[in-house]
Amino acid sequence: MLMGVDGFALTPTANFVAYPRFHEEYRLPQGWLPAGRGDPVDAVVLTTSVPDHAFKTILSNIGDPLVPIVSLVADDRQGIDAAGQGEQLAWARAYAIQARLREMPPSIRHSTQPEDILLARIYSRGEGLNAIYDPSSRDLVRYPVAGTLDNVAELATGLYSKGYLARGFFDRIFCCPQCRSGHLSVREECHSCRSANISEEVVVHHFQCAHEAPESQFRSHSGFECPKCARPLRHIGLDYDKPGSVTRCDDCGAINDKPSVGFKCVDCGAHHAPDQVAVRTWYSYSLTAAGPRRILQGNDGASALVSAGPDRFRILLEHTRKEQREFGSPYQVARISFAHRDLIEAENVRLWEQSLLLVGDALHSALREVDAVRAQADGFLVLMPRTGPEDAARAMELVAARIKAVLKVDPGFQYVLIADMAARSVVSQQV
Ligand SMILES: [Zn+2]
Ligand SMILES: [Zn+2]
Ligand SMILES: [Zn+2]
Repeated sequence: MLMGVDGFALTPTANFVAYPRFHEEYRLPQGWLPAGRGDPVDAVVLTTSVPDHAFKTILSNIGDPLVPIVSLVADDRQGIDAAGQGEQLAWARAYAIQARLREMPPSIRHSTQPEDILLARIYSRGEGLNAIYDPSSRDLVRYPVAGTLDNVAELATGLYSKGYLARGFFDRIFCCPQCRSGHLSVREECHSCRSANISEEVVVHHFQCAHEAPESQFRSHSGFECPKCARPLRHIGLDYDKPGSVTRCDDCGAINDKPSVGFKCVDCGAHHAPDQVAVRTWYSYSLTAAGPRRILQGNDGASALVSAGPDRFRILLEHTRKEQREFGSPYQVARISFAHRDLIEAENVRLWEQSLLLVGDALHSALREVDAVRAQADGFLVLMPRTGPEDAARAMELVAARIKAVLKVDPGFQYVLIADMAARSVVSQQV
């Protein structure tokens, strides 16, 4: 907010860029000026329906992932903050977003970290990271608030685990294990040849000889007769009945009681049995109290997040470093990460989350009471006071064995011991 000479708050003017252009007689709303060369751009205003390739060019020209983009005509493409609800609303929305962007410290406003960008977008748009269905997206789901960021679900999972986002269930969607597409056709299929070219046929039961077969086998040139005993069938209820139906494959001729179920990927054409198909759980997210704190205070304000209480890990690390200086007692910090994380998470987010909880349990049971553990975006930090590198390696072997014993999947446990200065900087960074 700018201050006037006499101390009254002035509404700051905002600069916009228009694509392609406004009519000469277009009356700009108050507070808006066309951005001059080199001016910061506070908003992009699309005046007509811009074709996809031009929209892409515009996005890459702006180079600022947070700037609001509004359209004066209907447009529901990813990255557009308001469209089709009247010009006034579009301008107002752009103004509201850029006002929130101005609240942010430069370390966040110009951060190139995808997590910062995502949090800043959620905050500046004043709405949650809500999932919506979109048949044109490969995942079938997208997050309009995320703009053009990639891997939004993965980023949001990271922010959720750090305590910046809360989440609510949106949907569980099957996806192709081959190409990750959510465009799967669910089909009834033949058990033998997996063809979907099947039909249902009524079964006829001949009372006299007890023969049971699909109805078509009872049809002959001479009429309706039993294929086994050749007697004619006349009266339902007296000669025969129809106890049910079977599935006939019109490709291979196989007959089964019930059809099988299979999935065909519409994008890559691969066929999968139900137990081969991965399932992804999708969530909608909203900021927790720690989210805006992180956004408005920048990276330094973030250190006290996640747990509301004092940061035990940091306190312990500081104490341990003092001990080292005073008494020369060594300490170790191990950074634990998981090589198979992406793989497991891509297959099944829930499985990964449950695995991570078990890893936490395994850590606590394998380590000493004096050690401290901190969850990180990509794994864990373990602080081991009064420990040399060999003892630390032994402790990590124990952890690895415990993880192997309790986890169904192999998370690809790996660790590095990090040096004193690195440990300090790791902790002073936000986690
Ligand atoms: Zn018969
Ligand atoms: Zn078949
Ligand atoms: Zn596929």
